[in-house]
Amino acid sequence: MQSLEEILVECERLHGHMCAGQLLGARMALLGCRLIEVDDPRGADRKKVIVWVEIDRCMADAVGAVTGARLGKRTLKYIDYGKVAATFLNTETNKAVRVVALESSRALADERFSSIANKRERQFRAYSEATDQELFKIEDVALELDEMDAPGSPRSRVICAVCQEGVNDGREVIRGDGEVVCRGCDRGTYYGKK
Ligand SMILES: [Zn+2]
Ligand SMILES: [Zn+2]
Repeated sequence: MQSLEEILVECERLHGHMCAGQLLGARMALLGCRLIEVDDPRGADRKKVIVWVEIDRCMADAVGAVTGARLGKRTLKYIDYGKVAATFLNTETNKAVRVVALESSRALADERFSSIANKRERQFRAYSEATDQELFKIEDVALELDEMDAPGSPRSRVICAVCQEGVNDGREVIRGDGEVVCRGCDRGTYYGKK
């Protein structure tokens, strides 16, 4: 595994700026990989790691940078909980660990580095120097990767009977009358028709 400093350079390049969220996300991902016993997530171990992120903010990019997990490779899953948390799965051993940023970690910067006037600098110092235990809650969790969610070529493809659009990987809905439709046609779409 690279050092935190080297990793942060990579995070900044991918994310577009350096921020406290990158630092927190990078530390979260390093910890997560260590706990599931993956040393080289972007190299030799790249096929072993699946990550679920629970927020679509800065930290999610850092988790992707450190682990190499990508939405387009199906190794990064986005669960819309609005929480600074991620779960790391080693697909070889099935060991899964969920790491959550502690609410108390937010106050560390002000408590410990009150002499530093700049808020951003305070946060950086706190997130650099705090221990993993001060920053994160860690829990062993049970998690199985569904075959339909696994990396690799699409497992299935059907055409929606209503909109005629293609649907991959079992995301279709089979209605009572046997009609096969997409989720949008079944439950309503996130966009409105004009
Ligand atoms: Zn950011
Ligand atoms: Zn449809």
